[in-house]
Amino acid sequence: MTHQTQEYDVVIAGGGLAGRSLACFLSREPALTGARILIVDDAGDPYPHRSLIYWHDDALPLPLTPEAAFTSLAVDAGAAPRVLPLRRHRLCLTSSRAVFRCLDDVIDGNPRITRLDARVARVRARAGSAEVVLSDGRRLTASHCFDSSLPPTGITAPLLMSGEVRRVRTAHDAFDPSTATFIDFRSGARHPVHFHCVLPISAREAVVEVTRIVPGTAPDAGFSFDRATSAYLRTVWGVSRYSSVSVERGSIPLGVRPGPARGRHVRIGSPSGVVKATTGYGFTRILRQTRHIASTLASTGSPETPRPSPRFRWYDRPVLRMWERDPELAVEFMRAAFTAGDADLVLDFLDERTTFAQERGLLGSMPVRMLLQPRLWT
Ligand SMILES: Cc1cc2nc3c(=O)[nH]c(=O)nc-3n(C[C@H](O)[C@H](O)[C@H](O)COP(=O)(O)OP(=O)(O)OC[C@H]3O[C@@H](n4cnc5c(N)ncnc54)[C@H](O)[C@@H]3O)c2cc1C
Repeated sequence: MTHQTQEYDVVIAGGGLAGRSLACFLSREPALTGARILIVDDAGDPYPHRSLIYWHDDALPLPLTPEAAFTSLAVDAGAAPRVLPLRRHRLCLTSSRAVFRCLDDVIDGNPRITRLDARVARVRARAGSAEVVLSDGRRLTASHCFDSSLPPTGITAPLLMSGEVRRVRTAHDAFDPSTATFIDFRSGARHPVHFHCVLPISAREAVVEVTRIVPGTAPDAGFSFDRATSAYLRTVWGVSRYSSVSVERGSIPLGVRPGPARGRHVRIGSPSGVVKATTGYGFTRILRQTRHIASTLASTGSPETPRPSPRFRWYDRPVLRMWERDPELAVEFMRAAFTAGDADLVLDFLDERTTFAQERGLLGSMPVRMLLQPRLWT
């Protein structure tokens, strides 16, 4: 059977966070008002729920009201946590559903955007265009294809950050809603290494995340996230009875390298390596990536993807190796690194938004000797 080719200015393969953010920012560009845009996505549920944690110090380019926002972070300093004030940043909790609704308010107001519920089989860059082939054989051509769809084999990565997010409710006051516990190894510093993050919604309700970082080739078998959280709540928070309002599980590939640029086939979102290699945070980085692509497409006709800085790849490398080869050393390093300096600067550094002069100051206060061990560089 032959299919007629359909033509667009932009095809967005994958309509998740990156795809919909890009569609939203393209819609806001006056120079692209007439552009015909197609979003192809195969997700059954357009509003999946996933808790999203992020921080920002500038105006977020979305009218998003977070469910909780914090200006103090408790970080594990060994014997006891240290509370660090945030002067510029807010650490926030929202959900993918709330973000998608914000993005769709803009997308649905643009009559030139069409959505197609279909699976992308492959994308090919051609001279002056991109061809998108769907799994049912249909072919689409576009001036540009922006692609966050997963390859059939999934994403391969050196490490996986796997975890569980549990929303818990207690019968008595147990949490301090003014402070988020950002990283806490107190019940999981030793084998198998894991850490917790606690975002209180109220004195009796909190989102508790437990995370492990494991080699991508050996996803953790047999680790019980719920047992780890119940032990942590009991030993660290003195909470032995709670009810679970919801539970989410998932894995984030860490250290994904961006593929080579292929003309008019442009990778965006997770497959482009935009998720931060050492933390798994990607939300605000995806907003920045897609906003930049939309504005450069509008101003020059040629989209520019922000390239990762070689400096930050250099900093990430030994940290990733620590997680791969010596997780207990990684715990020691993380404890020292998070409590070493100004928390706002640490968040900027994790976001790859510091200058070299700031990095010198920050690294000077961290246990850099740990990073310089030859075995972390081979
Ligand atoms: C479990 C988990 C938790 C995370 N939590 C956070 C967090 O708290 N904070 C943070 O900053 N970042 C977080 N991230 C990282 C990052 O922000 C998210 O992964 C983000 O959703 C990535 O956006 P994306 O558009 O690349 O992928 P997605 O949002 O997953 O969108 C990809 C879309 O493409 C569709 N698709 C895939 N293949 C095809 C195909 N062949 N054809 C058609 N459609 C296709 C999918 O159905 C999906 O809708 C998390 C990631 C994961 C996996």
